Amino acid sequence: MKLTDQARFSTRCIHAGQEPDPSTGAIITPIFQTSTYVQDALGVHKGFEYARTQNPTRSALEANLAAIEGGKGAYAFASGMAAIGAVASFLEAGDHVVVTDNTYGGTFRLFERVLRRYDLHFTYVDTGDLEATAKAFTPATRILFVETPTNPVLGLTDLAAAASLAHERGAKLVVDNTFASPAVQRPIEFGADMVLHSTTKYLNGHSDSVGGVVVAASDADLEWLKFYQNAAGAILSPFDSWLILRGTKTLAVRMTRHNENGLALATYLEAHPKVKRVFYPGLAAHPQHALARRQMQGFGGMLSFDLGSLEAARRLLNSVRLLALAESLGGVESLISHPATMTHASVPPERRAAIGITDGLVRISAGIEDVEDLEADLAQALERV
Ligand code: PLP
Repeated sequence: MKLTDQARFSTRCIHAGQEPDPSTGAIITPIFQTSTYVQDALGVHKGFEYARTQNPTRSALEANLAAIEGGKGAYAFASGMAAIGAVASFLEAGDHVVVTDNTYGGTFRLFERVLRRYDLHFTYVDTGDLEATAKAFTPATRILFVETPTNPVLGLTDLAAAASLAHERGAKLVVDNTFASPAVQRPIEFGADMVLHSTTKYLNGHSDSVGGVVVAASDADLEWLKFYQNAAGAILSPFDSWLILRGTKTLAVRMTRHNENGLALATYLEAHPKVKRVFYPGLAAHPQHALARRQMQGFGGMLSFDLGSLEAARRLLNSVRLLALAESLGGVESLISHPATMTHASVPPERRAAIGITDGLVRISAGIEDVEDLEADLAQALERV
């Protein structure tokens, strides 16, 4: 099971970072549920001393995710937010970050309610607009933090252009790639310095684990991440590492179906008379459809649509039967949610309005069910709107 450098994406998903267990030949990396490791003699050990610092299941996952994202290495954390915290640990007091304006609500909350207290500064801008993004830089800007596609209105940022813009100004480009997954888009190939994920979503893919990862392209960034992971201690557990390793084995095939179902549902909703507008990068009507074609392979399973009012959204959400009313995304089962009162409730109303998160906006994470069943469920729920 030695991987060649030429191994393609699905092959890397299934094999990278994993060898048959040397003691038994078990093909699947075991869950090393241990807190410490016995040393052969004073100062003589097998590379493992204490499980916050090193765990073989977590190391296998980290190597797997680095290979999938096209990075040099990766460090896994207890949640996506903990991974974002790890990225923030690169900053020092007085530093400034330029952030995609409709970033995930929890990211906004961490930056505004926690990190501002440490003399860190954040400017939110539509990173789809390169001129506005360039203007948002200050001499203190250290990171351009981009989410593409954005949650929940699916705006895109040109990754290659964002990388040049950041690098010309001495900043790092960090991309939250949770919404796309590396099957759809690999930002390091476009010049990003670091990519992070909430592994809770597509990478695990089965709605049964919470985790995060930061993948980096340079040795220097990896050295800091390794130090920080051990110093702060918000590590991913062995069991969650094992779950995500299992998840990534099917990432390529799952994403093919997520992409198909996302496009089919967006197309269906776009033609429905009760739907005012659909947000999905795979639709020709999406203002950045050409960019989506350039930097994405497939358009993902996330879509949003506007029903015009809170009451209409409420009726739809209370009428669906197969689609589950729930936060989160990226699992095999389809989920439906109301960003204004769920994922983005912590974003102030005036900012929500500026970003386009209206009260009538509904978000779908298209699962991998038979799409005819999903369409039928939406059809019966839309009848009640
Ligand atoms: N980034 C994005 C785009 C997300 O959607 C989420 C969670 O929904 C996060 C980060 C945070 O991840 P977690 O919930 O695993 O902490």
